[in-house]
Amino acid sequence: MHKTLLFTFLLFLVACGNYSKGTEVDKAPLPAPKAPKNIILLIGDGMGLTQISAGLYMNNNQLHLEDFPVIGLHKPYAFDKLITDSAAGATAFSCGVKTYNGAIGVDADTLPVTNILEEAEARGMATGLIATSTITHATPAAFIAHVSSRRMMEEIATCFLKTELELFVGGGLKYFNRRKSDDRNLVQELEQRGYRVSNHVLEDFDQMAIDYNKPLAYFTADADPLPAAQGRDYLLPASKLAPLFLKKASQKGFFLMIEGAQIDWGGHANNSDYIISEMIDFDRAVGAVLEFAKNDGETLVIVTSDHETGGYAINPGSKMGDIKGAFTSDYHTATLIPVFAYGPGAQFFSGIYENTAIHHKMRSLLGIEKNLQ
Ligand code: MG
Ligand code: ZN
Repeated sequence: MHKTLLFTFLLFLVACGNYSKGTEVDKAPLPAPKAPKNIILLIGDGMGLTQISAGLYMNNNQLHLEDFPVIGLHKPYAFDKLITDSAAGATAFSCGVKTYNGAIGVDADTLPVTNILEEAEARGMATGLIATSTITHATPAAFIAHVSSRRMMEEIATCFLKTELELFVGGGLKYFNRRKSDDRNLVQELEQRGYRVSNHVLEDFDQMAIDYNKPLAYFTADADPLPAAQGRDYLLPASKLAPLFLKKASQKGFFLMIEGAQIDWGGHANNSDYIISEMIDFDRAVGAVLEFAKNDGETLVIVTSDHETGGYAINPGSKMGDIKGAFTSDYHTATLIPVFAYGPGAQFFSGIYENTAIHHKMRSLLGIEKNLQ
């Protein structure tokens, strides 16, 4: 009896084996997708479809975002809340985990999770961060730090001393050189680690002589950088420089995150003009990156957002070039968020998926994770 059962089971296994072998042989071989050497992830904080639409209609019906061949949607909710904040949203991209609002590079149990920038560095790639907020703000912080709360700005600043980051540009100098929690001068410590450190008072970003042989830290403000409408003008030159700078820094490719942080702030302020000017400024950076990627041919560009802010709507009475914005909230909303992709591997970003899938797709394409999701 037992022998009969065993025999039947063996027959079944053989049949399964033959079956799967047969289908494999019958399948036409698919060409292996070309993997990107470099990844540039652009995050427009608080940039939902309406923010993009308003920017488009207020910019002569043109955005660089229109040049992307692949568009998808991600589900931005957090671990325990339908409405995410920027900390949980950016941690989903950087670490691939849904976590609680306020979490920076840690999971729902506050345990640190290795982020994609660290993994890129471990593979010898060059890395960079650019933001139009402080560089310690939630979105860039999720790519560099592992702390339980986004409010731990000085703690987050110390994490810039623990990496091999080749370039970072953003505000928040005071968290580095006039610290309340200790007497450390992180600017001096960065210089001791070989960085060329500069800031907006010493020299304009686009007037600076660039030393390609030294990592670069440039502070654009003591605290928060200005809105674009009040004269902030470094996002475009920084987004032009960074890919060239990082490409020279390593033969093994690079990972760069660029954030347009203040689209979100316009949403919180329920200020349509603020959203639009920040959206257009961000789109210029997208254009510069896209131009680099088109020439380079080995760079995957992904543009997305962590969440929408304001429940922003374009109401009746609006015209091309004259947007009548309306808002349902002064906080974030849970609407699906667009993802734009260009370059090798872009095809994997079509469809609807979790925000964490962006992390897994990037890792797979860099060869860190086996299966594309
Ligand atoms: Mg942000
Ligand atoms: Zn926000």
